[in-house]
Parts: sequence; structure tokens; C-alpha cells
Amino acid sequence: MTISSRWEVGIPNCSLQEWIFGSVCGEVPHYHAFIDPEKPDTDYLTLWGYRSLSKRIAMGLQKAGLQIGDRVLLVSPNSLYVPPAFLGVLMAGGIVSGASPAFVTRELAYQLKDSGATFMFAAEQCLATALQAATDAGLPHDRVYVLGDADRAMTRLVLSETPAPGPGYRTPTPGNTGPRHWTELIQGTRRSSNDWCWVEPDDATRTTCCLNYSSGTTGVPKGVEISHGSYVANGVNVAHITRFRPDFEERRKLDRGLCFLPMFHAYGQTYFIANLPHLRIPVYVMGAFSLPKMLEYIERFRITTLPLVPPIVVAIAKNRNLVARHDLSSIENMGSGAAPLSREVCEEVESLFPGKDMYIRQGWGMTEVTCTAMAWDPTTTTKGSAGVGELIPNCKAKLMALDGTTEILRAGERGELWVTGPTLMRGYWRRPDATAEAIVVDADGTRWLRTGDVAFVDEYRPGGIFHVVDRVKELIKVKGNQVAPAELEGLLLESPDVADAAVVGVNGPDGGERPRAYVVKSQGSKATERDVVGWMRGKAAAYKQLTGGVVFVEAIPKNPSGKILRKQVREWVKAELPPV
Ligand code: AMP
Repeated sequence: MTISSRWEVGIPNCSLQEWIFGSVCGEVPHYHAFIDPEKPDTDYLTLWGYRSLSKRIAMGLQKAGLQIGDRVLLVSPNSLYVPPAFLGVLMAGGIVSGASPAFVTRELAYQLKDSGATFMFAAEQCLATALQAATDAGLPHDRVYVLGDADRAMTRLVLSETPAPGPGYRTPTPGNTGPRHWTELIQGTRRSSNDWCWVEPDDATRTTCCLNYSSGTTGVPKGVEISHGSYVANGVNVAHITRFRPDFEERRKLDRGLCFLPMFHAYGQTYFIANLPHLRIPVYVMGAFSLPKMLEYIERFRITTLPLVPPIVVAIAKNRNLVARHDLSSIENMGSGAAPLSREVCEEVESLFPGKDMYIRQGWGMTEVTCTAMAWDPTTTTKGSAGVGELIPNCKAKLMALDGTTEILRAGERGELWVTGPTLMRGYWRRPDATAEAIVVDADGTRWLRTGDVAFVDEYRPGGIFHVVDRVKELIKVKGNQVAPAELEGLLLESPDVADAAVVGVNGPDGGERPRAYVVKSQGSKATERDVVGWMRGKAAAYKQLTGGVVFVEAIPKNPSGKILRKQVREWVKAELPPV
């Protein structure tokens, strides 16, 4: 039985930039959209500055040769430069592909090649990796733009006509084929950008704007094709449920967001690059998460909105003394998503706000549905519920028996969650087979995403609350980051010591997941567990390392077609590790 959202709301068929700014050249409200909390007086971007800088970057990219539909890879920690670089690519008609700044060369080169990116923005601290990846992927170094500017105020940059080069930047000469500084893109564009217009897509629902990478239910990371229409729909749907409180307009004026979630991931990206600027809510941008800094900024800037991930909620719960030293009374809402979170931990954090009706509202989402599909409306109490909320507007869900053949019709009964709605991806970039595996088209022509998550709903009605209780897909989530077992297994098989391997997630003492490898040694190999752990170093980002351990086995259980029987491997885990 299909469960629908309580709401159907209209979605404009327009580009993401049109939705965020409302107009190409017209007046926009004056307020600070992005602020560097370390230098709030000098380093900020007003909404006008955000639009202006994005337009100028778009003009520069077009001049540098970017064509409609070209991909641009963006690898950077959070900074004030990321949102205008992101929007600049879109305004130029390009497609952004965000990558983790923790990536090693191999991972970045893979994404460059897979997406076919013809330009790259790389933060200064990612530059060495980015250039090596560019070489490996065959991307000329003069297509790499260095993002960042250590010694100059953002506001001056926006206003100046010919910005001075940043540190370490060499003035381009005809023979210089090295990386360029991003400010080169905006030189000579300040005046002309006022009249410059981006071209609106004919149909925003069929025009891809970004490729965030996800392994989905199986296999290696793939580019998730999100259209402008889906991105806007995600924003409209989330804004609708967030606004669903009588005093929204009144309170919105005081709202302030703090961004430490990574802007390369769907969660941080949709929320902070698009949704809060659309709602005209200022965003304080942290380059990296730090609990003491987070607490300091909440107090100092009177932060009201705090989207979190489980490891951060756990960190708050474990550091009660530190938390108690700060005035957190400005916080109005705290959300958590991206991975499971127990109700007990939520309650520990909620108890830090005595006298206030504070609930941690969990939401559920997936890169393949742009970001969010389930959330709580702010007037519904979540106290005592471990649920991830109800369907956001315009979305539908059903629960299927795990073999995918029959629908589950009883409240409380578990099944695989299938979802549909306007935020559903167009497909996996250049992988029709993987797309066909992930999306089932029913007799009515509705495209359903098989999420690989196991869930139940408390009541079969619009507004029913979903509970995500397990996962039947391969994916491992480490601190909210995706880890694809197939990727790690591929790396292990490259080792001369490894004849076969299977990687699964195990629970760590902190409640999060860790990758654990079961390895069949090659004949004659004397490798130790440490050798196997060491083999992965430098080949994958730190969060993908085998921190869940390595176990040597005689054989990996497989079905006749050679597919790893992960259920059996998980049984090994259960027998070896006590439940946490
Ligand atoms: P990603 O595409 O990186 O956002 O990962 C999506 C996956 O994260 C989902 O399919 C779930 O397995 C997991 N996930 C997201 N939100 C939650 C949640 N609130 N509770 C449990 N798992 C979640």
C-alpha cells in the first residue's frame, strides 16, 4: 500500500539559481548569507555578493571554454568560496560534482574520470592531491582553479574590479600551463556582470545540475544525476515542512544556521548552499567540525538551527561538562540524519536543555533523492520516538518484502523502503544498468527507488511516522560518510597477499560503524592483519580504513554467480563481536 505525504505543493520549473535568488539582476534583500565565524566583520558574502560572485565565476568559466553540460569537480573543505563556485558552475550551464577533501589521489582521479570533468576547483590544502589526480586522469593543470585566498577579505574581493592574485599564485603567461587562481576567472567582470544573465533551462526537471557520488545499494561509487528540478523540489518540500508552524515568518528573522556538515555531501550542500539562502537565513561556515568551536559559535552568534549527524550528537552527549559551560539557549531546532541514532542518545542531549521543549528530530534521506524524504513538522512532538518523521511534501513510499515481490500492508511490519517523488535522481551517470537495478518502474509508470533500507511505519496514513531499523544494502556509513565495500574489496584484491576478500560494517564502541575485512590469503602469503591494514593506507581516505579489523578466513561465502553472501559474513560478525 502506498503512503503519500500529507501535502502536495507546487514546484516551480526553474533553475536552482533562479529559486535561490529569485531574479537574475533585480534587487535582493540585503543580509549576510555566508559569514566566516572567525572573521565576521570582514569575511562575509551578502546575498547580493553571493549572486554577483557566482555570476562572475560563470562568466569566467564560459570564457575559459566551459560548455553547457560540462562537469566541474569541486574539492574543498567548507569555505565561503564553495557556494559561489558551486552556483557559478550552474549559472554557466555546467554540472557540479562535489568530492571529499579527505580523498587521496586515486579516489579523486576516479571521480574525475568517471564524471568526465573538464575543469576542477581545488582548495589550497587539496591542491597537491588534485594536481596528481588531474595528471592521472588526463586533465590539463591549467584547467585546475585554486579556491581560496588566505590573506584577503571576501567582501573586498567581491567589490574589486581586478583582484590581486592570491598567495602562491603566478601571473599567467602564454607558456604557463600550471594551475590558475580562481580570481583569474572574475577579472574584468564586475561591471559587465550586472547585465549578464544566465540561461534558464527549457525543462529544469530534465537538466542535470549536480553529480554527487554514492554507491547506492551495491557496487562502487557512482555519479547521482540530480536535476535542477529535483534540487528545487527538495528545497520547496523541506521549506514547506519547516515552515509548518504558525510563527514561522516571525521567528525566521532571528534564525541563524551553523554549517559544519560537508558541502560536498547532499545533506550539507542542499541545506546550506540552497535552502537557507532561499529562506534568507544567514549561515556561519566552519571549515571543519570542532566541538569547542561549535559551542563557542552557537553562543556568540545566537545560532538557532543545528543540523547534525549521529557522531556529533554522541559527542555532545559525552561532553556534558563542556556543553554546560556555554549558553545554548538560542537553539530552536536540532535535527539528525545520514545514519542511525538511538533514542537514548537523543534524550541525553535533550536533557541538556532543561525547561525547554527540545527534541532532536531525525530525518531520513539519501543522495539518490537529492537529500531528504522524511522529516518532522515542527509542531509534532518527537518525544519518545526513534522515528525519522513523515514523508515530506510530494513524496510517496511503500514497504516491500525483501525479495521485492509483495507489498507489506500492516503497520509495524518491516520491509524494504521504496520511495518516489520529484526529488528522485534522473539515474546514475552513464550507468543504465545500475540505474535499472535501483529504480523499478511500476505499471503506472511511477519510478520507485529501492533504498536498501529496512523500515516500518507506525500507521498506514498520510503523516504516518517511519522508523528505519536496518539496512539490506552493502553500504557502510562511517561518521555519516559513505564507504562502499566493493571499493575496498577491489583495493584488497590488488594486494599480492590477498586471494579474496569481503568487507562489512561492524558497530564501533562509539555507536558508529567501521569497515571490517574478511580476507583469504594468497598461497604462500605470510601477511599479518597489520600488513593488510597497512596496504589500505594511502589508497583510500582515512574514514575508509579498516578500523573494524581484519580476519583471515579459508573462503568467502558466495552464490553460484560469484556474488558475496554478505548475510553469512554478517553472521560471522555476530559470532565474533559482542553487541555494543
Ligand atoms: P547518503 O546517500 O550518503 O545520504 O546515505 C543514505 C543512507 O544513509 C540511507 O540509505 C540510510 O542507510 C542512511 N541514513 C540516512 N538517514 C538515516 C537515519 N535517520 N537513520 C538511519 N539511517 C539513515
